[in-house]
Amino acid sequence: MSAPRLDRIEVTGIRAWGHHGVLAEEKRIGQEFVVDVTLHLSTAPAGRADALSRTVNYAEIAHAVHEEILGGPHDLVETLAEHIAERILSDTGRPLVRRAEVRVHKPAAPVGLPVGDVTVSIQREAAPVEAVLALGTNLGDREEHLRAALAQLAGTEGIEIAWTGPVLETAPVGGPDGQGAFLNSVLGVRTQLGPFALLEAAQAAEHAARRERLVRWGPRTLDVDVITYGDWTSQDETLTVPHPRAHQRAFVLAPWHAARPDAELPGHGPIAALLRRAADRDGLRDGPAIEGYGLS
Ligand code: ADP
Ligand code: MG
Repeated sequence: MSAPRLDRIEVTGIRAWGHHGVLAEEKRIGQEFVVDVTLHLSTAPAGRADALSRTVNYAEIAHAVHEEILGGPHDLVETLAEHIAERILSDTGRPLVRRAEVRVHKPAAPVGLPVGDVTVSIQREAAPVEAVLALGTNLGDREEHLRAALAQLAGTEGIEIAWTGPVLETAPVGGPDGQGAFLNSVLGVRTQLGPFALLEAAQAAEHAARRERLVRWGPRTLDVDVITYGDWTSQDETLTVPHPRAHQRAFVLAPWHAARPDAELPGHGPIAALLRRAADRDGLRDGPAIEGYGLS
């Protein structure tokens, strides 16, 4: 998977009195440490909506870094840098920050000579996230919409298709009368994208289908929903994760269960049990085998 292009937020000059060092006096007396961090993430979802919940709070990051400087003590500056990167990627900045650069300065390091500064700079990546997307289409060339959606997602930087579920044909649930049957499927991705960037990729696939439907069909050719994003949960109305209705939708649960029988929906438990309880499960039929939809 190629790396997605990311924006950067930098916080520099976070300083505190730490006790890191190999020498006993360094641990006892301490000295000043200064840390600069660069957070790589997609800031567009926050910037377009002016929404703090869609970006990382740099004050929280600065406080976390400050705590790490005060913590330990570690023998090595390298260890402090590692702890800071780990904390940003798997705690304070998770899951939005996809890469963290950390530079630790130890300007008073006991070198035995006058030196300007001593720094250690590291760069660490967040682990890719396993996410589940659901596809649905009931207008136009449904098979082509599924094929095209898979191809577009697979070609998106930062997305790798991990698995695809079977295609099911389902009677429409809710909505106006007279709608055609849906083809539904679910697929798993391994992604370096943050959750909002993944939603944008899903919406880009919808828009690609909509270009065609504006001319010929009407308003509903392809729906791509984010069902889960690792074990992350979000109540943001733009991206509610897990998807708020996934736990009761057999047309999501059944193809997911067929591909990943042991999967769990965060907050709802094993999907096998959810599927047994789903009201619409009797309306499902096997869909067509679609050439080009699936992993070759
Ligand atoms: P449906 O509920 O049938 O999928 P739409 O696709 O038209 O309806 O809904 C799209 C809206 O839902 C978008 O504004 C999108 O931001 C929002 N949304 C909230 N959570 C999610 C999610 N988990 N996946 C996809 N869209 C979501
Ligand atoms: Mg949708």
